[in-house]
Amino acid sequence: MTNMVFCRGCGKDIHESARACPHCGAVQYQPNRGKNRIIAGLLALFLGGLGIHRFYLGQWWGIFYLLFVWTFIPLLIAFVEAIVFFVTSDARWEEKYGPE
Ligand SMILES: [Zn+2]
Repeated sequence: MTNMVFCRGCGKDIHESARACPHCGAVQYQPNRGKNRIIAGLLALFLGGLGIHRFYLGQWWGIFYLLFVWTFIPLLIAFVEAIVFFVTSDARWEEKYGPE
């Protein structure tokens, strides 16, 4: 069975592109939609002081990281955010940064 995944609701095989399970109607988690948690975490870790991870997440206020980078505070914030991103569960991430 190619391109099949298990339903999160009932455990039956459903096609990976299905938005909802035809058996039980459960809405499925789509890992390839929205922003990638690991990429965001790595951006925060390496380029976080410049707010690059915020721009990646579509948040314009990443500009404030750039404006205050000389204080080194954005570097600290971004480092903490990188850790938070890495420990956030996929489901929670999807809720926050997944597509509407
Ligand atoms: Zn189901």
